[in-house]
Amino acid sequence: MSAIYRIHINGIVQGIGFRPFIYNLANSFELNGYVLNDTNGVYIEVKGNEDRIREFIQRIKSDAPPLARFDDVSIEKPDYKDYTGIYSGFEIRESRSTHGIPSVISPDISLCDDCLKELFDKNNRRYLYPFINCTNCGPRHSIVRDIPYDRINTTMSCFEMCEECRREYNDPSDRRFHAQPNACPECGPRLEFRIDKKNPPSPPFLKGGTKGEFSEQKEKPIKTTISILKQGGIAAIKGIGGFHLACDAENNNAVKRLRDSKRRSNKPFAVMMPDIETIRQFCYLTKDEDLVLNSPARPIVLLKKKHNISISDSVSPENNYLGAMLPYTPLHYLLFYYPLTHDPQPITPNFKALVMTSGNIFEEPIAADNKEAVQKLSSIADAFLMHNRDIYMRVDDSVVNVISGQQLVINSQHNSKLKTLNSKLVIIRRSRGFVPEPIYMGQDMPEILACGGQLKNTFCLTKGRYAIMSQHIGDMENKEAAEFYKETLKNLKKTFKVMPKIIAHDLHPNYWTTAFARQLITHHSSLISIPVQHHHAHIVSCMAEHGLKEKVIGIAFDGTGYGTDGNIWGGEFLIADRKDFIRFAHFNYVPMPGSDAAARKPWRMGLSHLVHTYGDGAKELIHKIFSDRIQENQLNTILKMMKNSINSPLTSSCGRFFDAVSSLIGAKDLATYEGEAAVKLEMLAETKCYDTYNFNITDGFPLVVCTKQIIKEIIDDAKANLPVSVISAKFHNTIAETILTAAQMVQKKHNLDKVVLSGGVFQNSFLVKRTAEKLTVSGFEVFLNEKVPSNDGGISLGQAVIAAEHF
Ligand SMILES: [Zn+2]
Ligand SMILES: [Zn+2]
Repeated sequence: MSAIYRIHINGIVQGIGFRPFIYNLANSFELNGYVLNDTNGVYIEVKGNEDRIREFIQRIKSDAPPLARFDDVSIEKPDYKDYTGIYSGFEIRESRSTHGIPSVISPDISLCDDCLKELFDKNNRRYLYPFINCTNCGPRHSIVRDIPYDRINTTMSCFEMCEECRREYNDPSDRRFHAQPNACPECGPRLEFRIDKKNPPSPPFLKGGTKGEFSEQKEKPIKTTISILKQGGIAAIKGIGGFHLACDAENNNAVKRLRDSKRRSNKPFAVMMPDIETIRQFCYLTKDEDLVLNSPARPIVLLKKKHNISISDSVSPENNYLGAMLPYTPLHYLLFYYPLTHDPQPITPNFKALVMTSGNIFEEPIAADNKEAVQKLSSIADAFLMHNRDIYMRVDDSVVNVISGQQLVINSQHNSKLKTLNSKLVIIRRSRGFVPEPIYMGQDMPEILACGGQLKNTFCLTKGRYAIMSQHIGDMENKEAAEFYKETLKNLKKTFKVMPKIIAHDLHPNYWTTAFARQLITHHSSLISIPVQHHHAHIVSCMAEHGLKEKVIGIAFDGTGYGTDGNIWGGEFLIADRKDFIRFAHFNYVPMPGSDAAARKPWRMGLSHLVHTYGDGAKELIHKIFSDRIQENQLNTILKMMKNSINSPLTSSCGRFFDAVSSLIGAKDLATYEGEAAVKLEMLAETKCYDTYNFNITDGFPLVVCTKQIIKEIIDDAKANLPVSVISAKFHNTIAETILTAAQMVQKKHNLDKVVLSGGVFQNSFLVKRTAEKLTVSGFEVFLNEKVPSNDGGISLGQAVIAAEHF
């Protein structure tokens, strides 16, 4: 029986070799018809034997290319009489533009194995060509100007394909069929190398080049870059989503120089290593971490460092972890494996590890434009390795953490059973490799712009059944970040054809994003603005990821967020659904002397907690603990500030509580980046210790988790010379215990047993493990953010979902 079927697929189906896959599959079943990309996804019409069509549909689902993701598949069988098309075979038709829910453009994808082989194959016409790609790999999001995803809508449109490339592009049996960035040394992008001509870089590299005096050198760009890096130089290297600043990670002087000139903080640098075996030399590696490192997104994965390794300590100072990634562009592979001798492909890589940190100064957005990069980075870099393929959308490297699964023995009254907690992929920065992959929401949403927070900002747009999260934008205090925000918003609105009617924003009156939302509303009176509480947004971001719609116990722990009472919240126990929340408990309020400055000076929080705990009796202790480290007059100034309530807002922040403890036990008094003191405290924690401190929960509404007893016992432990590693572990266990106790109180009263953990504090793996363990053993179901960050990089998703409920 002959029949016609129309199949419409939504999801990640563009730019990943999906149409050629359909073409070949249809031909193998001898079906006629066509396939095309439209703004709604991929549309297929087939005519032929009905049994075969059914099998064809099965095979689409089972054999799709590895990068495909199906969200919605609709299959229609129109009446045969309506059928007017006459097909003599199966064809791939031109893309068409329609209105509706957005199609999904794939994120940028790491170099595939086939292309890698060709890259180092002496007989291949793309031998050592840094821009080799195919339908399974290469740049996507970063080069797309508009949809549908066709070459004309990308930054590759200025390169006219040569005859051979065009043949590949037009041949459905070729693996470069409709590979939009297809190119070769004849017709494609080229490298550009610049060094400071007047002051040719050579050891001992004391400074970068003079501004604007870099000139082009045409000979052997990759070889020269390798040689500069080997001698301890710093190179700015253009990647897929922006520039990296690179140096040899085993060269202590080079790393130190990069740290001094770039950041002036202890924030860890990421390193790139040539292969998994090398990573294993420096880090402990689980099977799951191996998988994530090798995934097409190629994120930076935080891995436990081994001891006494040859990588410079300045790469991640005072940190047990190393942020490592594998090469993901052909150029990266060439840096590691470019043949310096006559050996066609060296077996020993040129480097074991390269620092590859975002090409920016301090917390500015990553530089992406050649001219801009030379201007901004010339005081740091000794040389520039770049190219003439433009980056349209800047995307930083993504950062993830794999919290390894564990087995728990659950004791119930009658028997004990073994439960395995799955490993969790925790996203810390969601950018390259993930963006702009939309998050499927499972229900239609009105069109919303959720503006996000102030630090680690992302924004979120919704359309149809999708939430589209922007890449990591950065800290909004900074002018450049504001420009980047506007530029990205314009781009994503256009690409996904979103016209927001609702603007969701944080309650904080001084956030840049709040001001931005207000400005939009002033200029467009038809827009509706919906303010959203920060910690509610955290919890709902996680609920939305897991499709939770019912009431849950929401634990939102972070550094700071504006509360409905005007205080700074951050240690919040909520009962929440997607629309509203009740704050049923919080950590007690303490002053935060100097407001935001307290986050950079954890000792101030230590002082604040001592005064809160001991009142007038704190004086002697303060002297004893701090007199060696902090000047007397500074201590007195802060004490006076708190006493007279000058610039000392009240906070229930759990992040600041961690800061206080870190300082009180002498781990960290000053933080060069947000959360450094808490990170140090986590690094110290003794994993074998399960002891806890005592704490009280005071009656009332909301309940207050009192920190006084915890501080007292910590001070006693310190006096008794208990190792800081044990104190740290006990403190972590205690925080987990407060969560369990509070959850049990709610369970009793409201019969809720789903616990959602969100907020930056839950990037602390030690705390997450201990908390999940306690909750699971007691019969709770635990939910963590997995698709968006649990830090402020995820709140825009929560804002959007809450706003949709209020619309
Ligand atoms: Zn490829
Ligand atoms: Zn070509």
